[in-house]
Amino acid sequence: MEEEAAVIPVEKALDIVLAHTPALPSEEVVITDALGRVLAEDVRADLDMPPFDRSAMDGYAVRAADAAFAPVTLEVGGRIRAGEFSARPLAAGQAVQIMTGAPVPPGATAVQQVEKTRAVDGGRKVEILSPVETGQNIARQGSEVRAGDEVLARGQVLDPAAIAVLAAVGKGRLRVGRRPTVSAVVTGDELVDVWETPTRGKIRNSNGYALVAQARWAGADVRSLAVVPDVPDRIAEAMREGFDSDVLVLSGGVSEGAFDLVEEVLARFDVGLFFTKVAIKPGAPLVFGRRGDKLVFGLPGNPVSAQVTFDMFVRTALLRMQGARTVLRPTVDVVLLEAVKNRSGRKAYLPARVRSEEGRLVGRPVASMGSADIVAHARANALVVLEASRTRAESGETVPALLLGSFLERDGAP
Ligand code: AMP
Ligand code: MG
Repeated sequence: MEEEAAVIPVEKALDIVLAHTPALPSEEVVITDALGRVLAEDVRADLDMPPFDRSAMDGYAVRAADAAFAPVTLEVGGRIRAGEFSARPLAAGQAVQIMTGAPVPPGATAVQQVEKTRAVDGGRKVEILSPVETGQNIARQGSEVRAGDEVLARGQVLDPAAIAVLAAVGKGRLRVGRRPTVSAVVTGDELVDVWETPTRGKIRNSNGYALVAQARWAGADVRSLAVVPDVPDRIAEAMREGFDSDVLVLSGGVSEGAFDLVEEVLARFDVGLFFTKVAIKPGAPLVFGRRGDKLVFGLPGNPVSAQVTFDMFVRTALLRMQGARTVLRPTVDVVLLEAVKNRSGRKAYLPARVRSEEGRLVGRPVASMGSADIVAHARANALVVLEASRTRAESGETVPALLLGSFLERDGAP
């Protein structure tokens, strides 16, 4: 009898992947290339924000005491626009017309918004129609952030909001984690390309395109995609080239079938295998190894299995290589709208649509024919997680769900 390879739990497999995933060195980029990259340094403000006492409104800067018993008419002592600066102190009994974003003059303690004023005497005077409190409509220098404060932290993925912060603190060049390079090799005699109509027995190669897309979405630089038949020498040839990349991802040929050759070919390359089976559904056969500092993942050929295991293990590794602090998808609690089953004896990740309804998240399972049903998978925005020991969960039960994207809906919202 052949020796059974150990089947390990998902959590253990994740620990192993993270323990063997090297962080790549950082590199410098300019701000216009920084979107989606992982910050490799802490960023501090180089100045106070706001950098001066700034008017938050179009209106009139006043001494609050002068307008305490409004309505009151004050003399207009000038005008300050955004970008200008006036060092001239505001005299008692005076107002200065001021624009949003302009520096408040010395001595002014409040700004009354223009809607609550009335120009008098051709603009030489202004009637302040209602009183203002000290500090009203003035954003004080340093009230948001002080010079030297940390504004962005190493390990965060730079989104547009972070890009704005980089620009505001003068960070035109910054250090980010290098993008891991990825090579993909998909195996199978049955595969034809997207442009072809499959003859009987053939199918289109969906995994190749999905894996490339997933790798890119995880910030990787995809160098090659090879499609090879189930011929050991051809697989070996494609793998040899794939080892030029930081990560080699294979799909197909990892289960027990007579033509499942990936493990056999990996043995030719001195790849140290850490596991070959994980107690996950969809998935199960799942190979992870390392050759020097290169990582190798052998994913199942079944298309949903390939996508889910990529998401859980390869994406995690790719993010860790870039130095990301958060490498796992967020998990939320959802109320099931229908019962789900798991007879696999493995930890199950079941496709579902999660949305917000009456103040809670609800999840409706997506009808799926199983691990080949990529259309069902594409309809899901989350995976409901059932532990290996749970054979079912009932409608109305709260279960964890892994959010796959930012496509959460709210009932009735567009
Ligand atoms: P395998 O892991 O090679 O035994 O493949 C398992 C199942 O996934 C079979 O039904 C294959 O036809 C299918 N499959 C394998 N590779 C791909 C691929 N690149 N695109 C779509 N389906 C695939
Ligand atoms: Mg195959």
